[in-house]
Amino acid sequence: MPAIRFAALQQKLNRKPSDYQPEKLRISDVFGENVFNHMAVREYIPGEAYKCLMEAMEHGTKINRDMADQIASGMKSWAMNKGATHYTHWFQPLTGATAEKHDSFFQPTGDGVGIEKFTGSLLVQQEPDASSFPNGGIRNTFEARGYTAWDPTSPAFILGRTLCIPTVFVSYTGEALDNKTPLLRALQSVDSIATEVCQYFDKNVKKVVSTLGWEQEYFLVDAGLYESRPDLKMTGRTLLGHAAAKGQQLDDHYFGSIPDRARQFMRELEYESYKLGIPVTTRHNEVAPSQYELAPMFEEANVSVDHNSLLMDLMNKVAARHDFKVLLHEKPYKGVNGSGKHNNWSLATDTGVNLLSPGKTPKTNLQFLTFFVNSIMAVHDNADLLRAAIASAGNDHRLGANEAPPAIISVFIGSQLTETLNALEKLEKGKLSPEDKTNLKLNVVGKIPEILLDNTDRNRTSPFAFTGNKFEFRAVGSSANCAQPMTIMNTIMASQLRKFKNAVDAHIKDGMKKDDAIFNVLKDYITASKGILFEGDGYSEEWVKMAESRGHNNVKTTPEALDFYVTPSAIALFEENGVMNKVEVIARHEIMLEEYQKKIQIESRVLGDIAGNHILPTAITYQNRLIENVKGLKEVLDTETFNKVAKEQLEMIVQISDYISGIIRNKEDMIAARKKWNKVEDIRERSIGYRTEVFPYCEKIRYQCDKLELMVDDELWPLPKYRELLF
Ligand code: ADP
Ligand code: MG
Repeated sequence: MPAIRFAALQQKLNRKPSDYQPEKLRISDVFGENVFNHMAVREYIPGEAYKCLMEAMEHGTKINRDMADQIASGMKSWAMNKGATHYTHWFQPLTGATAEKHDSFFQPTGDGVGIEKFTGSLLVQQEPDASSFPNGGIRNTFEARGYTAWDPTSPAFILGRTLCIPTVFVSYTGEALDNKTPLLRALQSVDSIATEVCQYFDKNVKKVVSTLGWEQEYFLVDAGLYESRPDLKMTGRTLLGHAAAKGQQLDDHYFGSIPDRARQFMRELEYESYKLGIPVTTRHNEVAPSQYELAPMFEEANVSVDHNSLLMDLMNKVAARHDFKVLLHEKPYKGVNGSGKHNNWSLATDTGVNLLSPGKTPKTNLQFLTFFVNSIMAVHDNADLLRAAIASAGNDHRLGANEAPPAIISVFIGSQLTETLNALEKLEKGKLSPEDKTNLKLNVVGKIPEILLDNTDRNRTSPFAFTGNKFEFRAVGSSANCAQPMTIMNTIMASQLRKFKNAVDAHIKDGMKKDDAIFNVLKDYITASKGILFEGDGYSEEWVKMAESRGHNNVKTTPEALDFYVTPSAIALFEENGVMNKVEVIARHEIMLEEYQKKIQIESRVLGDIAGNHILPTAITYQNRLIENVKGLKEVLDTETFNKVAKEQLEMIVQISDYISGIIRNKEDMIAARKKWNKVEDIRERSIGYRTEVFPYCEKIRYQCDKLELMVDDELWPLPKYRELLF
């Protein structure tokens, strides 16, 4: 067996679960230990500055220079007491990863000594060079400089020995260059209008936040095996590899007992998460072998998004200590389930009410119905934008692949709520009669059970499902930054609630009573949004057909899905809600297309290399052995016997030649296709060209390599096989 595969396998065989033991056993003793949370703020920041920071943390109010200096000084003392030596503005550029540039607190004072210093201005703003981050042309039109600005609504934390300060990242002229800025704007937008709508029901509501609870799926793979697979290393997924004889068909991994090595990794990951205030609560095996899931309690969306980004970063750091690699790619292995990241989404008031949770009284239930129906309407009117929000090269492999929700956006609400909506729709339009009112109170809203969480009524095939007290956006990819889907979700909700409020207010102005007005508008929405509801099997062929007849889009590839970002109506939506201006939207569109095209380009190059440098030589070596063997047979056997027994072997030799020449030809054609499309300036065209003319060669080459894997002597095969990676 080639040395590298042999060494990797032997290493894996010898691995024991790590002897990791958490320092403290009680989670409450460590939770938030490395977070500059309310408790730390109270301890380290004096009177007025404390109030000022609390205001900023809760309401995003501005902090003046003097206060910022005091806050910075307190933050520095706290961080240094915890052993931090450096600080960084921590941000989420459009590369999808997180970025940090560490600066030391220590500053030489020029006389051979120095002091630890951290001022308000260093806390509030920095100027990293923006030119090395994607900017979609904003840099060319304006200036290369960008700056990061402190986001006090997400608490600072310590990672290793560095104080990390969550920040936004914007161009010198104020355009967003990151994932956080549009999210914060969308959250602001939905807050203001949802608060107004809540005031129909409860005047005490002063603020509405969006909540997010993500569920992160991932694969673990042994670090040594990972190192010996150039494709995993360079692209995060296997570009070739025949399916193992056993996959996930026995369903024996799902919720099964977690192997010790993986469990030790999870324990440490959880412990590290707790220290950073990430409220991880769930861990279990997923459907595919070596696939797992981790989920926290939900949190305010901005904090939750930061926590997910932080966690993704943390995962590989911790994995290294257990000789694992974490695969966050949406489809690391062909033929077994890929990974997603469900985004559980809701809205909650500062009075402690989850707006998507049915209440105890008809009044609270009317509020619930208002937000419920408006959510459905928002998805109905903006399904394409939601599709765009989850588009990525990796996720293209999942959506519609009979394992993940399809690329068609629809909403599942369950039978009870379907009945409720049907009943509401039947009401007479206009002023409600006393009988209608009684009927409504007793039989419609009055009958919505307080708890709808019925696990049996869940439809796992829906991309957007109501699960009792929240909507679950299931089509998000595992490597995605949740900021994108959350920005879109909250923007479309804000826009929808604004329309709703205008319509209700218009009725009220015409003399209708408030409740009647709300019912009338909701009734209209129920009728108008019916087409987006689907309760059946989202993976089925019938649904694809039905969706088509309903006029739903079924866009399977990223470059096409991204078109929905830049339609005039999408741009207007972003602008009207103050989420992004046209320059920002266009820039983002370009960045995402470019990322897509580059990913396909890298995959194509890596596969070309592996096929040429690993697979072809191996196939030729094996073929030579067969040829030698046949020659020998010819020597020792009489012609008649030889002709009888050597036939299959000769066929094998020819078959191998077929695959070899096929790989060579496809590789050449693939390179020619890349050359052709590389010349195309327009990034949208180039991306589509890569999708339609380069990508298919990868599939063809893979097919031929995988066939060879089945024929060639296992002793010669250079790459770890699926059975070795997955089991
Ligand atoms: P599953 O989808 O695996 O069956 P659950 O339905 O139990 O899991 O919960 C999934 C996630 O939903 C959890 O991470 C939880 O934090 C989140 N969640 C629960 N309530 C809300 C809410 N009001 N807003 C956002 N997320 C929520
Ligand atoms: Mg879920």
